[in-house]
Amino acid sequence: MTERIFNFSAGPAVLPVPVLEEAQRDMLSLPGVGMSVMEISHRSKTFDEIIGRAEAGLRELLKVPDNYHILFLQGGASLQFSMVPMNFLTPDGSADYVLTGSWGKKALKEAKKVGAVNIATTMADGGFTRVPSREEMSLSPHASYVHITSNETIEGVQWKHEPNVGDVPMVADMSSDILSRAFDVSKYGLIYAGAQKNMGPSGVTVVILREDLLQRIPENLATMLDYRVQVENKSLYNTPNTWGIYILSLVCKWVQEKGGLDAMEHENEEKAHLVYEAIDATDFYRGHADMDCRSTMNVTFRLPAEDLEKKFVADATAQGLDGLKGHRSVGGIRASIYNAFPRAGVEALVSFMKDFERRNG
Ligand code: PMP
Repeated sequence: MTERIFNFSAGPAVLPVPVLEEAQRDMLSLPGVGMSVMEISHRSKTFDEIIGRAEAGLRELLKVPDNYHILFLQGGASLQFSMVPMNFLTPDGSADYVLTGSWGKKALKEAKKVGAVNIATTMADGGFTRVPSREEMSLSPHASYVHITSNETIEGVQWKHEPNVGDVPMVADMSSDILSRAFDVSKYGLIYAGAQKNMGPSGVTVVILREDLLQRIPENLATMLDYRVQVENKSLYNTPNTWGIYILSLVCKWVQEKGGLDAMEHENEEKAHLVYEAIDATDFYRGHADMDCRSTMNVTFRLPAEDLEKKFVADATAQGLDGLKGHRSVGGIRASIYNAFPRAGVEALVSFMKDFERRNG
């Protein structure tokens, strides 16, 4: 098969076609280098330029202030669940976790192994359908940090505005919505995100962290797990995912050419609106998240019965709409429509939804 289908996968996810084309064109030999990007040393001048472009790309798109470092690590966002508390949860302190879905729960589980945690709120009782109001969160002014998940990929619940947590450093898992919209980095102490949704292939994790927090890191952490070591070595303490960082640099260039994060946000909102409109138009489809925190990246919904959901996924797959099955832990349907997902694919889904209801409703 050489035709590309519409890929609704939650991650690894669809990448921009111009990025894949450029990578394909330069696969055997980077222009002027005579080697594939996968064959060059991570200590070479060429790679130095590539990682420099990746960092500059993120800095420019996200308007990252100068007092923040950008790291390209490995181990996925899942390793950050552990690294964040290992570096910043002090022995006599406690960290606040705001739980709006399954990934926040996983982050909490790892933090508990490191030290004291306080569940500032959990929205589990309502089935993770919304984010809490400020009044619903019991935040401590003395917490080591507050952890949130900006977009819960499985439930499709997204913070539209980050909570105000005062002077406590806010840590955010932005794996599934980084680069999808503009936001103010200076409100955060640390941001982390696996690359495999909006930034590139799996195997690279971006960490953006505020310089002054480095002073809080305890001595004698395992070398690779110490943010200070990674900062001092500019993410090159060991061999990084050179290929992944290269693709990430191309993705940043693509986003820039599309008009940056404001343009991206506008397009993402339009795409998401088309699917939510189709869900709201009928009782046959039922959206999972509350309207004011519906994700623009992962649209989650149910059908009247599980066997209909199975049929929906099978029929859609047969028509070239792939990856619509909801996460195994919650079921239902999930359409992941990241930056690189084309509007034509969203239109194809909406038309399929109407047709499916006509035939099965
Ligand atoms: N956090 C969020 C919000 C995610 O969506 C995911 C992956 N889907 C993870 C963490 C885990 O990421 P990884 O597989 O890169 O460890």
